[in-house]
Amino acid sequence: MTVTAGVVAVQGDVSEHAAAIERAARSHGEDAEIREIRESGIVPECDLLCMPGGESTTISRLLHREGIAPEIGEHVAAGKPVLATCAGLIVASTDAHDDRVETLNLVDVTVERNAFGRQKDSFEAPLSVTGLDEPFHAVFIRAPLIEAVGDAEVLAEWDGRPVAVRDGPVVGTSFHPELTDDARIHDLAFFD
Ligand code: GLN
Repeated sequence: MTVTAGVVAVQGDVSEHAAAIERAARSHGEDAEIREIRESGIVPECDLLCMPGGESTTISRLLHREGIAPEIGEHVAAGKPVLATCAGLIVASTDAHDDRVETLNLVDVTVERNAFGRQKDSFEAPLSVTGLDEPFHAVFIRAPLIEAVGDAEVLAEWDGRPVAVRDGPVVGTSFHPELTDDARIHDLAFFD
């Protein structure tokens, strides 16, 4: 079987996410065909979607301008999986406390942009994640703080704060799971 995997390719670690998706797919005996998303018409062809980090203001502007945002909403409404990381989670959230980010309301959390960054710009931490047997080495880069969780499940916390959540078919992380060789978060989001 080949799964068609869309990666929002406005900015961020597109090739790293693609590699992690391929690795996760292979561990389930599947191939992944990666499609880069910069315009409308691609999302409806995808079985799963990844929304990488970057600048949430830029990403949300492009998703709305190109008509990609409603397609992602339909993908989720159809129960198909999405992994939204860092700025991707900010865009997928219900509220980012920033008028420049038009959120997609896919993950029932409110976030505060760059809130970890005020203390420490980037850091790494081993996280225990619901569904994973061993800790996951997480890399945080100007990460959003998940301030409030509505109707979503917290999958991991760091320092008492949620840093990974699941809302139906959408998994959101405030860290960057694509920056190590460990594809277990992609696996959890897409193939579990
Ligand atoms: N600071 C970025 C934002 O608020 C997110 C950073 C990231 O994706 N690494 O949009």
